[in-house]
Formats: sequence, C-alpha cells, structure tokens
Amino acid sequence: MGCGRLAPSPTGAQHLGNARTYLLAYWAARNEGQRLLLRVEDIDSPRVKPWAIQQAIDDLRWLGIEWDEGPDMGGPHAPYLQTERRDRYEIAVQTLVEANQIYPCTCTRRDIADAGSAPHFEHEGPLYPGTCAAWSVGDPLPDPGTYCWRFRVRDEVVAFDDQVCGFQQCNPAQHLGDFPITQKSGNISYHLAVVLDDGEMGITQVVRGDDLLPSTFRHLELANALRIEKPAYAHVPLVLGPDGRRLAKRHGDTRLSHLREQGVSPERIVGWAAASAGLTDHDTPIPAKAMIQQFCWQRLNRFAVVVAESDLQ
Ligand code: GLU
Repeated sequence: MGCGRLAPSPTGAQHLGNARTYLLAYWAARNEGQRLLLRVEDIDSPRVKPWAIQQAIDDLRWLGIEWDEGPDMGGPHAPYLQTERRDRYEIAVQTLVEANQIYPCTCTRRDIADAGSAPHFEHEGPLYPGTCAAWSVGDPLPDPGTYCWRFRVRDEVVAFDDQVCGFQQCNPAQHLGDFPITQKSGNISYHLAVVLDDGEMGITQVVRGDDLLPSTFRHLELANALRIEKPAYAHVPLVLGPDGRRLAKRHGDTRLSHLREQGVSPERIVGWAAASAGLTDHDTPIPAKAMIQQFCWQRLNRFAVVVAESDLQ
C-alpha cells in the first residue's frame, strides 16, 4: 500500500494556497487507496512559530482532511515532528561525509555572488563556483560554526516524470550547483530532512506546490547518495494573488484561521479548491471527503489560480 503525506511548515499561518495543496494531497492519496501521514516541518528555526503547529493541525481538521498515523506521541493522529528526528539527520550527515558526498564550505553568500556564475532556474541564486570542493574525507575541518556541509551533485542528466508537470530533466552540476545540506549553525536543511523523512516513512507519493520543482532534483541527488527509494512526485500549481504573485499577506487575509473566524465554512473552501483545480464544474460547497471519488489527475488544471480574500466571503 502506498503512502502520501501532508507536510506543513509552521513558519506562519496556513492560507488558502496551502489548503488547496493539502486537499489535493488528501484526495490523491485516498483516491488511490493510500495511507496519509502528517509531518510537521518544524526544523526551520528561527522562522518556526510554536503556535503555528497546533493551528496547522486545527486547520487540517477543520477542512475535513483525515490522516492515518503518527509516532507514539499522544494519539493515533499525532503528527511526526522533524525536531524529534534530529538524530536521524545527524546520522545521514555522517554517512554522506564518509562517502565524500559532502564537504565543509566556508563561503559566504557574497563570495558566491562575487564569483559571478549565472543561475539557471528562475528565483535560484548563482551556481556555487566550487571554491571549497577540493576537500576530501580525512582532511582537517575548518573551525566549528564557520562552515556548512555542501553536497556534491552529479554532472549528468537526471530525469523524472512528474504526475502533473510531465517529464522533467536537468543536469544538477550545470543547473543547480552543489548545495548546502546544513547551515553554519549546524541546523539541518529542509532538503536533507525531507528526503530522509520521505524515505524512512515509506512515502510513495509526494504532492506539493510547483515552486519546489527545481528542488526535486536536489532531492533525487540526495536520495541517490543515501540509497533511498524515490517517491513519485506531483507538483501542483500554486495559488496566486490578483497581482500574479504568490499568495501572501499583501493580498488580504487568506489565513484559514481568519476565514474560520469570519464564519466561512470549510465546505466553501473545499468547493473553491476543487473547482479552481478543475476537478468540478461548479464552485459549490462540498465536504472534503466527498471529493475523494471524483479526484482525477487528468482533470487537474496545469495553471496557477488567482484568488482574492473577497472571493470566499
Ligand atoms: N513544508 C513545505 C511547505 O510547507 C513542503 C515541503 C514538501 O512538501 O516537500 O512548503
């Protein structure tokens, strides 16, 4: 049996765009008879807001999304927390050091920018110029706190089939460059945590926003180095504000907690999410569970949807 996941980042309130992605992940998993787990991605300190963890769980429950399991942390529906898994991430870093897959990098953002390599993907920074890449396992380490661990990517074409976006390919060395998997503070990066979690939790299908599409090649690189089975990917279109930019505070209050307080029903949000994704013909209120049968990847719109707070009042 396959397994999907809901992976909220509690760095702030969850908004309509997040809701749509979670609903799609829920429908996709249940439509295909998969399990679904909840993993709170709370290692991104200091951006994590402690109140946002419970709020994200409340939002998901309010929407009518049901998940299956979590660790033995206070109930069958308790989530996995990444902060509880730091030991696992440390072990993976050690494995990668021993395999000479990562090297300590003391470069600053400025150093990398000054090296002048061109970024390939939109919104991505310049390619890492390889300044620290000559290090190999056994060489002395720089002083603690002065370096991050940087992953050596392959100089070959990597490809995968995305359920929504179709065939994707990239040469990680030419288009992404070596990337950090820890910060200088020692914090673990999202990339390493998510790949290890998905592997160890038996995730077979990842449904997430298409802003993460370029990062998937980093994830494939990490999975390959750690000998982790790769999940199937479905990168779903984002929800944008009326100015065509990614949904954010400036677009009005689209926080789910706010809409809830305003008396908007969860069925209203679900109906909008289903219709805006192309899964139904009319934007009418519907319970989340009722959409499971109707879910169909082929019907899903490939384009981003624009929403304003007033659309749901
Ligand atoms: N936690 C990420 C987010 O909320 C999603 C990461 C993932 O699905 O891989 O944007």
